[in-house]
Amino acid sequence: MPGDGKWTDTRVRKRLRLGIMGGTFDPIHYGHLVAAEEALVQFNLDKVLFMPTGTPARKTDQRVTPAEHRYLMTVIATASNPDFEVSRLEIDRPGVTYTVDTMTELRTRYGDSADLFFITGADAVLEILTWKDSARLADLCTLIAATRPGYDLSPFMERPVPSGLRVETMEVPALAISSTDIRARMASRRPVRYLLPEAVAAYVSKNRLYRGDG
Ligand code: NAP
Repeated sequence: MPGDGKWTDTRVRKRLRLGIMGGTFDPIHYGHLVAAEEALVQFNLDKVLFMPTGTPARKTDQRVTPAEHRYLMTVIATASNPDFEVSRLEIDRPGVTYTVDTMTELRTRYGDSADLFFITGADAVLEILTWKDSARLADLCTLIAATRPGYDLSPFMERPVPSGLRVETMEVPALAISSTDIRARMASRRPVRYLLPEAVAAYVSKNRLYRGDG
């Protein structure tokens, strides 16, 4: 299954630096893609594995597009980049999606051969203390919190994080784009060109997503 294989580099014996891009991706847009590319370069990652959530922990009472659509849009958006892969790990795991379960599974798969970097939006990272077993994340991965320029980073200094957890921040101008805004635009037939890949917009249109009619 693409994205779920084990990457090993037989030419160079070094630890794999694997980025895991976690998000609902409802839909995926250029902000996510630019953030993943920026993380790849800034943190010298070998690959970024996009990880669409199955049942997002904080959205169990919200309407979220079915996981298979979000997965396929993510595959379409990343298809042309050899450094990006997409995983079905979370969408195939039954029940509510918890990051600690995913990181534990990846740690088991890669053992000590990889350093794991969990990349996601800063707003989500700020809630880390409410995440399931967040203290265990310190042993499993480094967190990379992506923000738009001008975002108030002071909460990262003020709020306690689980002991030993490494949190890096990364500014990404394209994160002014948001999935919420794209869904609202689509529901009211406003333009979305240049906010997300055209092929993703075509997929949305073909599957009648975000029509605001139910
Ligand atoms: P969210 O609340 O929908 O997103 C918060 C903010 O971050 C939004 O502005 C969002 O923008 C942005 N964002 C989300 N994913 C991003 C990414 N990969 N890169 C850059 N910006 C991103 O967050 P969510 O999707 O529910 O959760 C984000 C990740 O954290 C998921 O992997 C989720 O499983 C994990 N998480 C885990 C727990 C837990 O284990 N208990 C709890 C909460 C979240 P857009 O709407 O434009 O994406």
